[in-house]
Amino acid sequence: MRILIAEDSSVQRQILTSVLEEWGYEVVSAEDGNEAWNLLRNGNAPQLALLDWIMPEMDGTEVCQKVRERGNEPYTYLILLTSLDEKTNTVKGLDAGADDYLTKPFDPHELRARLRVGERMLEIQRELITAREELRLQATQDSLTGMLNRRLVLDILERELTRGQRLELPLAVLMIDIDHFKAVNDAYGHQAGDAVLKEVAARVSTTVRPYDSVGRYGGEEFLVILPGCDEPRAQIVAERLCCVVSREVVHTSAAEISVTLSLGLALSAQGETSERLVHAADRALYEAKRNGRNRVVVSQSSR
Ligand code: GH3
Ligand code: MG
Ligand code: MG
Ligand code: MG
Repeated sequence: MRILIAEDSSVQRQILTSVLEEWGYEVVSAEDGNEAWNLLRNGNAPQLALLDWIMPEMDGTEVCQKVRERGNEPYTYLILLTSLDEKTNTVKGLDAGADDYLTKPFDPHELRARLRVGERMLEIQRELITAREELRLQATQDSLTGMLNRRLVLDILERELTRGQRLELPLAVLMIDIDHFKAVNDAYGHQAGDAVLKEVAARVSTTVRPYDSVGRYGGEEFLVILPGCDEPRAQIVAERLCCVVSREVVHTSAAEISVTLSLGLALSAQGETSERLVHAADRALYEAKRNGRNRVVVSQSSR
C-alpha cells in the first residue's frame, strides 16, 4: 500500500518513513503542503496520507480542504499530524475534511492501528464501487451477449424516435430472430446454443454503425435501431446482417453450426410511437418466417 507523508521537518520525515517502510508501506514524501497537494491531485496518487498540520506553503487543513473539494472518488484517507492538541483545533481539522488526527509525538502502536482503520475504510469503499459498477452493468447489459438489454434498447428507441421526429430524420427498426433455433438446442445442447447466440450477437453488433443500437429483445431475438436510416439504406443493412450470419458457420465445441436469420424492418413515420414501430417490425418478421425464413421483409403498414 502506498502512503504519502507530508512533513516539513526532515528528521520527522525520516523517522516516519523508516517506521512505515518497516511496516510494509511504500512511502511517497512531500516537504510542504503544496508538494503534498500536487502529489495527491494526480491520477496515481496514494490513497492514504499523513499530513503535518503546520507546513510551509499550505498547511495540512488546507490540503484536506483541497482534496475534498476535488470530490470523493477515488477516496483519499487523510490523517492529520498535530502538536496542537486543543479541542478547537481537532474540530477544525476534522471539519476541513480529515478522517482522523494524531498528536505528536505519536505512539507507533496507535499510528499503526489508525492506519489499519484507514485501510479498512478504503477497502470498504472499493467494494462499494465494484458493487455499484456491477449493478449498473446488470441494469443495462444482457449478461450472455454483452448487448444492451431489452429495457435499455427500448429506452434508446424512445429517445431516438423523439429526436428523429424533431430533426425530421428517418429512423429504421429491425426485429431479428434466429431461424429454427430450438433445433440447435435440441441437436447440440443448450451450451452450444448459447455459443451460437453469442456469436450471432457479436456479428450483428460489429456489422452496424457505431451510432446504431443493438439489444437482446428476447431469447433469440434482437432489436436494432438505425437512426437517420431511410428504407433503401436500412434494407442494405438488413441484407448485410442476414449475410454475415449465414455465410460462415459458427464454430462451437459441439459442432460447426449453420445459422440463418429472419428480419422484419419497419420505418418511422411522423407521429409514430415506439410501440407501433416495434409491433410493425414484429409483424414483418412473422411474414419473413412465413415466406420461408432467411430473409428480410419490410413492413407495409409503416410506409
Ligand atoms: P423460428 O425459426 O420459428 O424462430 O424457430 P425457433 O426454433 O427459433 O423458434 P422458437 O421460438 O420455437 O424457439 C426459440 C428457442 O430459443 C427456444 C429457446 O429454448 C431458445 N432460447 C431462448 N433463449 C435462449 C438462451 O439464452 N440460450 C439458448 N441456448 N437457447 C435459448
Ligand atoms: Mg510542521
Ligand atoms: Mg423467437
Ligand atoms: Mg427463432
